[in-house]
Amino acid sequence: MNWVDHRLCLLVSRRCNIRCGFCPVEFTGEDMSLETASKAVKSYLEHLSSGISPKIKFFGGEPFLNWPVMKALVDEFHGKRSKISFQVSTNGMFLDEEKISYLLTHPELEVTLSFRTKNGWSLPGVWFTFVLTQNQSTESVIEKMNVLILEGYRRFNFLPAYFSKWSENELEELEKTFKGLAKIFYGLWDKGLDYQIKNSEVYSPIPLYNAALTVDADGTVYSSSLIESRGMDSLSEFLRIGSTTDWPKEKMARRDGRFLREILRRWAGPTWDSTCRVDELLTRFVASVGEYSREACV
Ligand code: SF4
Repeated sequence: MNWVDHRLCLLVSRRCNIRCGFCPVEFTGEDMSLETASKAVKSYLEHLSSGISPKIKFFGGEPFLNWPVMKALVDEFHGKRSKISFQVSTNGMFLDEEKISYLLTHPELEVTLSFRTKNGWSLPGVWFTFVLTQNQSTESVIEKMNVLILEGYRRFNFLPAYFSKWSENELEELEKTFKGLAKIFYGLWDKGLDYQIKNSEVYSPIPLYNAALTVDADGTVYSSSLIESRGMDSLSEFLRIGSTTDWPKEKMARRDGRFLREILRRWAGPTWDSTCRVDELLTRFVASVGEYSREACV
């Protein structure tokens, strides 16, 4: 298969318990059934090129609203294919003791949290998604970052609010914030401590979204997780490439990065310029700290 990103992205729940102001997801209220999810994973594994390690990402909405399906998939498929790994992006609010103890014994399911959660830091290999919004000052971000470090988080993913308007002043402040964050990481790496930034490992040709095989709650297969955004209905036919019963094969050209970028540009309308600017600031930050961390580790 000719995907930039070989992950399978499952939109296991199109619901969420909260409404973040910057969130572009359309909440349709649907959850993926176990039958659909299981068919999708089987087809994905059957069609995956040899030599590629399977990675399955649970996405939403809030995936833990459909925990029984996620858990059933991990239990069913992990043992069968030893290199299979799972990821879940969650707001963390449903991580009760039962789920935490399951996750502690299942390191093959990597968790990315976007809110501070009781004992969240203790999960094996947990990532923290730090969302940067227009109303946050550099000082408040640095303060929160120091709290997260003290709590025990070691791996971070930085995410400026995309698809919303940023003024020139706010962009300047964001640039200052990235410089402040870079200083923190330089200090940690200079001490030889193992802190990581995820953005440096994950490449996507389109801001925010995954350019990865994406299965919606109803089993339709798309070329990108873009499909979950509000107002995508008229473009869904361009992104649709199959279903769990008609798995996509060579229609992959549609997944081309420029094609997805153009769809996204039209969809974003007047917020596209701001999106490109914050994405560029993020890219510069990640590239600079990435170089520094490599040098610091030599
Ligand atoms: S927690 Fe995630 S899915 Fe829910 S509203 Fe916020 S950004 Fe959207």
